[in-house]
Amino acid sequence: MRDHFEIRDHDAAGRIGRLEVPRADVTVETPALLPVVNPNVLTIEPSRLESEFGAEMLITNSYIIRSTDRIRDRAVDEGLHDFLDFDGAIMTDSGSFQLAEYGDIDVTTEEIIEFQRRIGSDVATPVDVPTPPDADRERAERELATTKRALADAEAAETGEMLVNAPVQGSTYADLREEAGRHAAGTGLDVFPVGAMVPLLNSYRYAETVEAVRAAKRGLGPGAPVHLFGAGHPMMLALAVAAGCDLFDSAAYALMARDGRYLTVSGTEHLEDLDYFPCSCPVCAEHTPADLRELGEGDGDGPSAERLLAEHNLHVTFEELRRVKEAIRSGNLLELVDRRARGHPAMLDGYRALLDHADELERTDPGSKDAFFHTSHEATRRPEVGRHRDRLARLTTPEALLLTESKAPSDHDYDAVWRVKPPFGPYPPALSETYPLTAEVPERTDDAAQVAAAEGVAALASANPETDLTVGHDAWCDRALDRLPDRVETENLRTLG
Ligand SMILES: [Zn+2]
Repeated sequence: MRDHFEIRDHDAAGRIGRLEVPRADVTVETPALLPVVNPNVLTIEPSRLESEFGAEMLITNSYIIRSTDRIRDRAVDEGLHDFLDFDGAIMTDSGSFQLAEYGDIDVTTEEIIEFQRRIGSDVATPVDVPTPPDADRERAERELATTKRALADAEAAETGEMLVNAPVQGSTYADLREEAGRHAAGTGLDVFPVGAMVPLLNSYRYAETVEAVRAAKRGLGPGAPVHLFGAGHPMMLALAVAAGCDLFDSAAYALMARDGRYLTVSGTEHLEDLDYFPCSCPVCAEHTPADLRELGEGDGDGPSAERLLAEHNLHVTFEELRRVKEAIRSGNLLELVDRRARGHPAMLDGYRALLDHADELERTDPGSKDAFFHTSHEATRRPEVGRHRDRLARLTTPEALLLTESKAPSDHDYDAVWRVKPPFGPYPPALSETYPLTAEVPERTDDAAQVAAAEGVAALASANPETDLTVGHDAWCDRALDRLPDRVETENLRTLG
C-alpha cells in the first residue's frame, strides 16, 4: 500500500480515498475530477474552478507550455500555481497525447520531467506511448516496452516532492494491460493512469473501457490510485468509479461546449435541439436554451453561449461526482450504475461487463450497507447475490426442510421452514434481518431473479445431500424450475391458493 493514498470507504470496487499531494501541500479527496485547463485558452478561470465548482485539482499540459514561447517564460518565472492562479494540486501531462496524434514530439521523458519540476507541477507525467484500441499485438507489445523505459527514466529523474504518473498501456489486450499494471505498481512511481482510453470513450465503447480498467487493476492491486485518463463525461462516472477508478479529467466540458453540446447524466444533447434545460445549475436556472442560442458570441461584456455551456457541463459533471461519492458512502453505488445504465445502451454494456467481474468486486464490497434494491435483472449478477450463494453452501440443514416464498404454514411436518427471496435464494430465519436479505424486491419477480434463487436452492442442496428439500414457489418460470436438482420437491404456491 502506498502511503500517499488512503482508502476510506468502499462500494463494489469504488472507493472514497485521500490522495496526499505533498508539493501542493494539499490532500485531494477521491474520486476527483480534474478539469483540463488549456494554458492558451482559459474557458473558465482556474480560480473559479476552485471557488465555484469545488475543483481540488486540475490538469494542464506541460508540453504545450514548453512549446509556446509566450507562456513558457511566465510559467517558469511565476510557477504554475501563480501563472494559472490556482491553489489546489496541479497535474501536468507530458505531450504523450500529442505524440499519439502527430506521431512525433521533440522532447524526452528526462527533459519533460525536469521541465515539469521547474514550472512547479505537483504530479508529473513521463512520455509514455498511448497505443490506441485495436492496434495489432506486435505494435502494442513494442510500444509497451517503450512506455516501460519511460517509466524507468522517470524513476531515475530528480523529482523531489513531486508525484509522478506511471501510465498503464496495452491497447485492448487484457493480458498486456494487466502485465503493464503489475510493472507500473512495481516502480517507485505514484499515480496510475489507464491510458489511451479516449478513442474508446469517444465512441461509447464502455464495455471495453471496463475490461481495460479491470485488467489494469488486476495488475496494479487494490491500493494504487487509478486515473482514467481522458474520462470526464458525467454519464459514465458512476460506472468508472464502480470499476475502481479514482481520478478523472474533463476536457469534455470545454470541447463539447465549443460544438454547442450540452452534457447530461444520460448522454449529450445539442443546444439547437433543446426547448428546456433539464438542470438547475446557475446557468440553467437563469437561462433558457433560446437565450443561449440568441446570445451566441456574447455582447462583448458578458459571457458567450460557449462559456455558459461549458459552465453547465462542468456543473453537471461535479454534481454527478458528488452523487457518486454519496452513493459510495450509503452503499448504493451499483443502484446508481444501474440507473445510469438505463440511460444509454452503451452504458448497459458497460454495466454488464462490470458484472462479469462480480467476483473481483466482491473482494472489496462491504458486507453490510443500505438496503439492496432489486430493480433490474442485471441486479441478479451483483456481488451480493454470489456471496449469499457461497454462504448457502456452508449452512447446515435439518433432515426435512421447507423453503418457501410465502410465510411458514401454521401446521406442517418439516423440521424447519426457511424463506426464499429471489434473487438470493433460501436463508434461515436468523439471517432475515441481515444484509443483503433486507433487500427491497418487487412483488412481481422477473425470470432472472427466479433463476438466481433456484441456483441458491441448488447450492444449498448440493452442500446438504442428506436433506429432503421442498420449495414452495410463486409460479416460477420453467427455466428456474429446471435449475433445481431432481430430488428437490416443488409446490406452486399459487395453485395451492
Ligand atoms: Zn445546468
